Amino acid sequence: SEVLKLEKIEKVYNRGEPGEVFVLKGADLAIAPGEVVALVAPSGAGKSTLLHIAGLLDAPSTGRVSIGGEDVTDLGDRRRTALRRSNIGFIYQFHHLLPEFTALENIVLPQLANGASQKTARDRAMMLLARVGVDHRAGHRPAELSGGEQQRVAFCRALANAPELLLADEPTGNLDPETSDRVFETLMDLVRETGLSALIATHNHALAARMDRVLHVDGGVVTPGS
Ligand code: ADP
Ligand code: ADP
Repeated sequence: SEVLKLEKIEKVYNRGEPGEVFVLKGADLAIAPGEVVALVAPSGAGKSTLLHIAGLLDAPSTGRVSIGGEDVTDLGDRRRTALRRSNIGFIYQFHHLLPEFTALENIVLPQLANGASQKTARDRAMMLLARVGVDHRAGHRPAELSGGEQQRVAFCRALANAPELLLADEPTGNLDPETSDRVFETLMDLVRETGLSALIATHNHALAARMDRVLHVDGGVVTPGS
């Protein structure tokens, strides 16, 4: 069954108020196991809203959300948080690492929250850091890392609990073009190696073209890309 399925998703912000916006108007989307899908849309089209709904960070106004074949639309907060923690990894345009913790600790903490032991969590964090070539910076805080290193650490954090689904919102969007290409390469290698399913929002058509499938968000619905 699908790793992620969104059915007839509508999202209205500020319903009935002066700032009312209908962002999504019946969006459908399904991602098969191991599939890497690009989400391309102009700014303001509702990309982030869609990713937040897919990641159980926000609820749709109407419509159904399924993760791994289970309808999770009406889950309570505790189950929703547990499911998000164990099954879904997030990457944002900005790293959002905790500034007072080291790179290693930023990857260890989500594993501890998910029930892993210190030893298991540290070993996995070091393995992931080595995989993205930042293990020599494990003991440094985010402010001591380059932009590319910060994003690489954020990738490791997203994969810390071995999720089945990766959601990424412009994952290399704040890096200069050359760094962006290299860091994106690392991300794609990671995703392919782990067999992860991914939904990756990007403005970059060249990067999008390298994924299995391209989708557009336009007029509040999801349409197949060309
Ligand atoms: P994108 O990621 O494609 O740029 P977003 O999903 O962030 O688009 O936003 C889509 C539209 O919804 C925009 O017009 C934005 O201003 C509006 N919007 C997003 N979040 C909120 C919110 N919390 N409250 C009100 N409007 C919002
Ligand atoms: P990347 O391609 O990963 O972004 P850079 O080419 O920007 O890396 O940086 C090369 C090296 O310089 C990195 O290993 C990093 O440790 C160091 N470096 C870059 N920027 C900073 C910074 N702001 N503070 C500390 N070290 C930095």
